[in-house]
Amino acid sequence: MSRMMKDSIQKKTIVGNWKMHTTSCDAKQLAKGIVDGLRNEEGVSIILCPPFPYLAVVGEILKDTRISLGAQNMYPEKEGAFTGEVSPTMLLDLGCKYVILGHSERRHKLGESDAFINEKVKVALAAGLDVILCVGETLAQRKANQTEALLDRQLGLGLANVKSAALSRISIAYEPVWAIGNADHHATPQQVEDAHAILRARFGQIFGKDAAAMVSIQYGGSVVPDDASALFSRPGVDGALIGGASLIANEFLAIARSAVAETQALSH
Ligand code: PEP
Repeated sequence: MSRMMKDSIQKKTIVGNWKMHTTSCDAKQLAKGIVDGLRNEEGVSIILCPPFPYLAVVGEILKDTRISLGAQNMYPEKEGAFTGEVSPTMLLDLGCKYVILGHSERRHKLGESDAFINEKVKVALAAGLDVILCVGETLAQRKANQTEALLDRQLGLGLANVKSAALSRISIAYEPVWAIGNADHHATPQQVEDAHAILRARFGQIFGKDAAAMVSIQYGGSVVPDDASALFSRPGVDGALIGGASLIANEFLAIARSAVAETQALSH
């Protein structure tokens, strides 16, 4: 069974997206702090996504641990004249298992289109990387009752022409743009549960019921340790993609422990 497929105890996935933060020294310290702080969080999959320049040093620290390495982005070509870009081959060479694609900061600040993200999804999967596809509405779209249509569109276009053999290597991160990096605007657990249900239903329309039951859907939007249990106890919330709180080892670990605790509670 793949890393991203839910198993019988519904293992949750916690992803740390360090964005464009840390120096090489900070990155080493943070990765070491997380590795050293691990107890027996076997019931959770943990993925760290440092900036490109620190993938190698963080990868060294994660070697022989239960934590996987992921990248925050990639260019959809194996190699070539693409100055400044990073290929899936390079990410695999550095030990990455995962790549985050379609993050809202890349969609909205760097102008990435659904078509371009779809290209990346297909190339990443073909190269052998597992994909975390981010989707989510803006505040204006939510206020205009366009959340469902937007999620349908981003999921449908982002996963267009993806072969069903690759489905077990895809997970989705629901990240409402208005809740990312915004301590004043948290999504409620009910809003998260509803959005995950929309995404799972849409996934089912595209790939079938069984695939929809298996797909891991994580939530991202200023998750902190205090909110984590309330989110993880909701049906269909299979983990979290963490930005700010992933830069503090103890906070990130506390969120991972909430995921373990809720998984255990759900399986009893
Ligand atoms: C993110 O990086 O996708 C994210 C959700 O960030 P934050 O937790 O800081 O909102």
